[in-house]
Amino acid sequence: MAEDRLPLIYIVGGWHSGSTILSILLGTHSNIESIGELNAYERRLWTAKADSSKCACGEVFTDCNFWSGIRSDLGQRLGNPDIVINSSDQEAFCNNNTELFRQVLARSGKQVICDSSKAWLRLKRIAECDRLKPFIVYLVRDARAVGFSALRKGRRVGKPHANKYQYENAIKHWSYVQGIVSRGLANISASWLLIRYEDLLEDPKHWLSLILSSVGLEFESGQLDLTDIQSHQIEGNRLRHNRQMKLQIDNEYMAELSDEQWHIGTQLAQPFLSGFGYELGRERA
Ligand SMILES: [Zn+2]
Repeated sequence: MAEDRLPLIYIVGGWHSGSTILSILLGTHSNIESIGELNAYERRLWTAKADSSKCACGEVFTDCNFWSGIRSDLGQRLGNPDIVINSSDQEAFCNNNTELFRQVLARSGKQVICDSSKAWLRLKRIAECDRLKPFIVYLVRDARAVGFSALRKGRRVGKPHANKYQYENAIKHWSYVQGIVSRGLANISASWLLIRYEDLLEDPKHWLSLILSSVGLEFESGQLDLTDIQSHQIEGNRLRHNRQMKLQIDNEYMAELSDEQWHIGTQLAQPFLSGFGYELGRERA
């Protein structure tokens, strides 16, 4: 029955698109639990990594009250908390994800989950599960900013030559993801909303209100107060470990990319850039 389906907000999109910030902003709502990238559940919570990986609350997962509680609830209900969230069998996928979402809602006392896994395939399978009701936020960011973020991350993690941190590769991947998501959304029955990251940061209240009204909730004034963030997000950008955040557009790419990089990036990312309404030329401040 449609009314019994568990409501969730699913953020789909590419790498470095701002999904961690959006999920933090949604998670500050009193009725939303942002759990981060749930497709990392097995990897983070029931392998050896659970002893060393950190939850967004700052604890390693085995010491996090929230996730240990959920795992203990799952264990009581199913006999084993080590469920396969990414099962290739659709029925098991639907059962296991529904069970986990149900425990997250029960333990948090909230009404809606935000899953920012980003992956298209996971979204498609959630949409095909008759017990889940996703509202989709397709989050996009200027490809040239994404390419620049990849370069910067490569430098930060000391792997400036790794393939995935190359500017051109990041932009090719961006285009690939937009192709998959755009084609997929044309054939999906769930409702969705396209948001440009830049617009979100320009007017967060407007965009958050639109998302919230789609899941029957209203914007709360405290949502933009990011001075004391409490969350248990799995995986995602390192920002999720920050207790305090400032909403600020990062336009460093505009000044830092060379003319050649800008040109190459613009060529590689067309026609999606134009489709999303991004300027092809560079407006230097
Ligand atoms: Zn935690």
